[in-house]
Amino acid sequence: MTQDYLVRALAFNDEVRAFSVRSTQTVQVAQDKHYTWPTASAALGRSMTAGLMMGSMLKNEEKLTITINGGGPIGQIIVDANGKGEVRGYVTNPQTHFDLNEHGKLDVARAVGTEGSLNVVKDIGMRDFFTGSTPIVSGELGEDFTYYFATSEQVPSAVGLGVLVNPDNTIKAAGGFIIQLMPGASEETISAIEQHLGAMEPVSKLIDKGLSPEQVLEEVLGEDNIRIIDRMDVEFKCNCGKEKFSTAIKGLGNAEIDSMIKEDGGAEVECHFCREKYHFSVEELEALKEA
Ligand SMILES: [Zn+2]
Repeated sequence: MTQDYLVRALAFNDEVRAFSVRSTQTVQVAQDKHYTWPTASAALGRSMTAGLMMGSMLKNEEKLTITINGGGPIGQIIVDANGKGEVRGYVTNPQTHFDLNEHGKLDVARAVGTEGSLNVVKDIGMRDFFTGSTPIVSGELGEDFTYYFATSEQVPSAVGLGVLVNPDNTIKAAGGFIIQLMPGASEETISAIEQHLGAMEPVSKLIDKGLSPEQVLEEVLGEDNIRIIDRMDVEFKCNCGKEKFSTAIKGLGNAEIDSMIKEDGGAEVECHFCREKYHFSVEELEALKEA
């Protein structure tokens, strides 16, 4: 399999900034870890793909969390991403799947739901946070992120997100793009982009045909208009570890830890994001109690 990567570009004499990512492998790792069924794979994969691109808008040590709660059967979608091309995510009910919708596509809106909100929290360091929240407008997620950028960050954007799933539930192709207008973008530029967007195939199809992230941007913006400024490998990566769970257990207090010792003879905790399990013996639990 080919390494996933992301590109950042400027276009139309810097009136436009653009992001594009191939995330097939990344979504496959999530599918393996969570045993997601196809509709859930598409919902989680689209969200992680958006997360990767939004992460690339951050500086190195900054990070963000996307929480999508549309009231649908999939439950919550949680995605963490950072400026280093790392993303992780999970959904409440990974074994969610429905028949294809009337367009012959995975029915992501039915799984996600359309009554709820899309929330973004950016940890921009020094205990400083940016929080944005917008209502879910379609449940297909691409449009929801488009709406989020327009209203919460006041940046007119076009967001394309796509995941194709094989009959055996593995991921066939995943990727996406974000196009953003800089202040002062001309009418000509806007209508040129609209024309390209109207004429192009879905981004998942383009990735499946073997197009690179650069070539996807050429489809969206026109071959001669783009200047690639950055390229970065991306991957599913969870930063959990036993230390983090020790801190969490400590926070439960002595009474709770005692009951783990007496009733369960230890503790096993599982990371929501990567399903890694951590075992704590009685001795380890004793050591976590406050003196
Ligand atoms: Zn983890």
